[in-house]
Amino acid sequence: MTDGLAAVKKLISDCEQKYGREPGSVKLLIASKGRSIEQIKKLYAAGQVIFGENYLQEAEKKITALAATNIEWHFIGPIQSNKAKKIAEHFAFVHSVASMKTAKRLNDHRPAHLPPLNICIEVNISNEASKSGIHPNELLALAAYCKNMPRLKLRGLMALPHLYEDLEAQRREFKKLTTLAKMLRENDIELDTLSAGTSADFEAAIAEGATMVRIGELVFGN
Ligand SMILES: *Cc1c(COP(=O)(O)O)cnc(C)c1O
Repeated sequence: MTDGLAAVKKLISDCEQKYGREPGSVKLLIASKGRSIEQIKKLYAAGQVIFGENYLQEAEKKITALAATNIEWHFIGPIQSNKAKKIAEHFAFVHSVASMKTAKRLNDHRPAHLPPLNICIEVNISNEASKSGIHPNELLALAAYCKNMPRLKLRGLMALPHLYEDLEAQRREFKKLTTLAKMLRENDIELDTLSAGTSADFEAAIAEGATMVRIGELVFGN
């Protein structure tokens, strides 16, 4: 598994080079849903710090068990309103904000002793009914709303697009995300994060400007 980690890091740096990206400009988040505390510990011992979880209950157990580490916990799953309080308490970064209601709850419940909660807005760039994320037409309003929340720090956009087989089709999906980020910047909304790409499409995401890829299977096997 730590072999898997080294291999994935190499793949990422190869992609940075291939697509003219700055070395080290693409961060690696390990998607650890369904993986054990022991597995996470091994990766942490090998130097991995950012882990992403999808389910609050599962994550709480891991966060408690690994409280002595410096792991940076990211929440990457859909957010149910009644879970927003605990998510705001336990995580450093939430990638899946998709409504004003959720943004407000996270803001209102972010504990005063912690820094503002880093967030990405999840965008449904492939416009699929089955996918979570906000519709691109509603993005600007939500981003402006989040920017004004004192206990949130809007960092960027996240997407989990339709998975096409070929690289060019994958790139077209991620390009939509880059275009939306540009639109926000033109509206004075600063962003430094594009959370995009999984084991199956990270190359296309890096080619189109991802700054954080979220990888599970490629590291752990299945
Ligand atoms: C599980 C998951 C990933 C990682 O997917 P893999 O195919 O295991 O690399 C990335 N993003 C989200 C939101 C996930 O739930």
